[in-house]
Amino acid sequence: MLLNVALHGIEKAAGVRYYPAGQRAGRIVAAGSPTLIRYADDLLALCHSPQEALEVKARLTDWLAPRGLAFNEDKTRVVSLDEGFDFLGFNVRRYGAKSLIKPSKAAQRRIRERLRDELRSLRGTNAQAVIKRLNPIIRGWAAYYRTQVSSEVFNALDHYLWRLAYKWARFSHANKSTSWVVHRYFGMFNKSRQDRWVFGARHSGAYMHKFFWTKIRRHQIVMGMASPDDPALTEYWASRRRKATPPINMTTQRLIEAQDGRCVICGGTLIAVEDQPQTPREWEHWLTNTRQTINTITTREPGTSDEVDARLVHADCRKSSGLALHNAYKPPGLA
Ligand SMILES: [Zn+2]
Repeated sequence: MLLNVALHGIEKAAGVRYYPAGQRAGRIVAAGSPTLIRYADDLLALCHSPQEALEVKARLTDWLAPRGLAFNEDKTRVVSLDEGFDFLGFNVRRYGAKSLIKPSKAAQRRIRERLRDELRSLRGTNAQAVIKRLNPIIRGWAAYYRTQVSSEVFNALDHYLWRLAYKWARFSHANKSTSWVVHRYFGMFNKSRQDRWVFGARHSGAYMHKFFWTKIRRHQIVMGMASPDDPALTEYWASRRRKATPPINMTTQRLIEAQDGRCVICGGTLIAVEDQPQTPREWEHWLTNTRQTINTITTREPGTSDEVDARLVHADCRKSSGLALHNAYKPPGLA
């Protein structure tokens, strides 16, 4: 609903004040002022008292009305930071002098439901199909939450997913023993992990990603005074929108840097980092897309068997240049 409304207009209407002078002028919200954070049609106002919150809401209601817009009352709430609230799939809550942001309970429930529904609909298919469908979902969710998640949350999801995968396998082989099913579908498929409980497809070696394998990059908010206008809290939401390191493994990251982010064949940009995904679903698509559009090639020196360093190229460029005929090829590693 607020999609096309400029943020500064809303800020002014809500009574947000910026520092008038000095280095912080116009950039940092003045002490004592409410702060607004907006994502598409989600709006968050950080205030100092319930009274102020109601005042901000009244001002915004007045401002929205002539524009034919209104708050969705079912989704609008005034809560204290100590009580905590959910925003964009995250839970924000103050514990003593610290504010913590973590995946909301609802978001964790939603991903579990999604995994359960997907695996149910995949009954009767093979392990390869399961892996292909689930990996982008797992990776996308992990990528979205990797700055604010705890390893306990990832571990719990992996455990849940293990049970789902086991159930899926049991369904396919109702007459086989437990050990037969376990041996058929679980093993040390990921050679770089000492984990024999990875779900995989024996004939291809493909395996299911684990949430836990996505590296957590903590971006912890510690507000000095635990105040709603502390720049650290608003800075957090702002930084989510800016360029961030995409969730790709070290090798691929090094290659991208070495090539200045460009394809060695056409010189075009390999990954569009300026469009950072903003939801787990967007990450899911971004990761799927990236896997499909980027290839790793290793060229050989003519007349020798020495492999030269790997290079990243667009899948289309590789196809049209005919490099596939004499080059080793593997998909790039995405965490
Ligand atoms: Zn290219």
